[in-house]
Amino acid sequence: MRIDNLVRAIYARCPVCNEATFPVHPLSPCGHEADAILSPLEDAGEVFSWTRTHQSDGATVIAMTDFLGGELRVTAPVLRLDDVAIGDRLFVLSRDDGAFFLAPAS
Ligand SMILES: [Zn+2]
Repeated sequence: MRIDNLVRAIYARCPVCNEATFPVHPLSPCGHEADAILSPLEDAGEVFSWTRTHQSDGATVIAMTDFLGGELRVTAPVLRLDDVAIGDRLFVLSRDDGAFFLAPAS
């Protein structure tokens, strides 16, 4: 898994109804045509749940993490950790190809 060039992920907020969306879609899921306000997800989220998947080349921890006080729930592979716990704080990072990951503060 390529994990270079990771930056804080960007989310979208509709200026009409205030709905937050991640990942950002070309068309807002709320249906409003106004241009979304794009902002980085700067603050850490809180792990709601997690699981571990096993492949022939190892295991991947996948966590569901709540951001913006629970407005957004992001499910993604966790980098740089072999274990997480409910309540842990993780950041959501994105790669230049749009893939996104969760990771502890580095
Ligand atoms: Zn809207």
